[in-house]
Amino acid sequence: MSKLVIVGTVAFDAIETPFGKTDKILGGAATFIGLAASHFNVDSSIVSIVGGDFPQEYLDSLENRNIDISGVEIVKEGKTFFWSGKYHNDMNSRDTLITELNVLADFNPVVPQEYRDAEIVMLGNLHPAVQQSVLNQMSAKPKLVILDTMNFWMDSALDDLHNVIKNVDVITINDEEARQLTGEYSLVVAANKIHEMGPKYVVIKKGEHGALLFHNENVFYAPALPLKEVFDPTGAGDTFAGGFAGYIAKTGDISFENMKNAVIYGSTLASFCVEKFGTERMESLTSQEVHKRLQQFKDLTQFDIKLT
Ligand code: AMP
Repeated sequence: MSKLVIVGTVAFDAIETPFGKTDKILGGAATFIGLAASHFNVDSSIVSIVGGDFPQEYLDSLENRNIDISGVEIVKEGKTFFWSGKYHNDMNSRDTLITELNVLADFNPVVPQEYRDAEIVMLGNLHPAVQQSVLNQMSAKPKLVILDTMNFWMDSALDDLHNVIKNVDVITINDEEARQLTGEYSLVVAANKIHEMGPKYVVIKKGEHGALLFHNENVFYAPALPLKEVFDPTGAGDTFAGGFAGYIAKTGDISFENMKNAVIYGSTLASFCVEKFGTERMESLTSQEVHKRLQQFKDLTQFDIKLT
């Protein structure tokens, strides 16, 4: 079993979907990643920052899942990162209404001493210079570095993003972001271009249409589980990344074959995340439910065709 370092936002989110809207609730990339990774019982540590307005009960809910939060800086006089988004009727696309960086604007991350030798590093969504700073603090080259990002950072910090992308093994990115990063419409061509930027493995997330894992000429595809109702997709991408990273940390196996399983775990956990607003569903999720859904996934994708 490997140690896992997670960097990303710990945030307030306000979400609007066709089903309703929320006031400020618990959100943030690192929050969703941490909750997903906690299903693998690995030693994980979140590196992030919040303001004095951030409720202690939110921090407690992470700590209660055995996530080390000693790397979450609390700036008493500061305000927590705030994001607000509104989903279109198809639930596959959304508009960002507000991004207030607040304390994130001057964040100097500090990786806790006992996590500087972690084998797996999950660079969740936040400023790419902060992601790079976390990598710089590792005492030895990690076994696997995974990076997730979004269009916001491509628009505002593209050079920093290119710099950190050079140093990662796996990138998880959604289809529109892959197109924006490469200027290519074909996802196969986009994945090739991203390989050239650094990552040997490229995971392209396609929302309700599943995820693709590229490694040079090899491609693996995992569908998303068809769900009766998608209530709120917020955090699904981060949950996917947390499931992927958690599974790799648990198994310690970074082969392409094992990454296929990591994609399936990521997709399974993400399928729960969208069932309720924010982190609600991930907070109540049990290992029995995960196990049952993994079986559904197997049934969905297994067929026995005889090729003559
Ligand atoms: P996802 O739906 O997986 O793209 O992630 C949504 C989460 O990302 C929300 O909980 C937000 O708090 C967080 N988020 C939104 N914008 C940013 C940003 N620019 N940088 C870091 N995290 C963000």
